[in-house]
Amino acid sequence: MHKVYLGLGTNLGDKEANLKTAVEEINKRVGEVTSLSAFYETEPWGFTSESTFLNAVCCTLTSLTPQEVLATTQDIERQLGRTRKSVGGIYSDRPIDIDILLYDDYRLNTPELTIPHPLMWERDFVMVPLREIAPEINAKAFGIKREGVCP
Ligand code: ADP
Ligand code: MG
Repeated sequence: MHKVYLGLGTNLGDKEANLKTAVEEINKRVGEVTSLSAFYETEPWGFTSESTFLNAVCCTLTSLTPQEVLATTQDIERQLGRTRKSVGGIYSDRPIDIDILLYDDYRLNTPELTIPHPLMWERDFVMVPLREIAPEINAKAFGIKREGVCP
């Protein structure tokens, strides 16, 4: 079994319901969800929007490969009504975004998948919920020197 941390975000529709449904689907299709952070209300990051985000991080135990986790979480995104992808770093409103933060201590750098998620360390909306459920995770172990550079 592999221990995977997923970052969840939503800023459209019934945000609390979106997070809960996403976690239920992850539990069914990716693997048992062993911990879930509180839901944090945050300001949009990288773009302006009328609506704030609700963010959370969960931990799941999976037998899927990283690529299979990505395919499954993208399918859950579509199921929850996400149609537009971020293109060229342009972010937009979304009913759900599921990012793979960590997969054991794997490092992967392919065009479709980078693990650990390259921006996680500087995003408080990831690191605050992650710290809540996994205070032992250490950026330095992944060769990251600075954390919390961006809001
Ligand atoms: P964002 O999460 O930045 O808003 P998207 O969810 O639209 O953007 O994802 C864009 C692409 O990022 C996905 O199609 C996926 O192939 C790629 N990607 C690379 N690394 C990861 C990762 N660790 N977790 C999720 N997606 C990733
Ligand atoms: Mg994403």
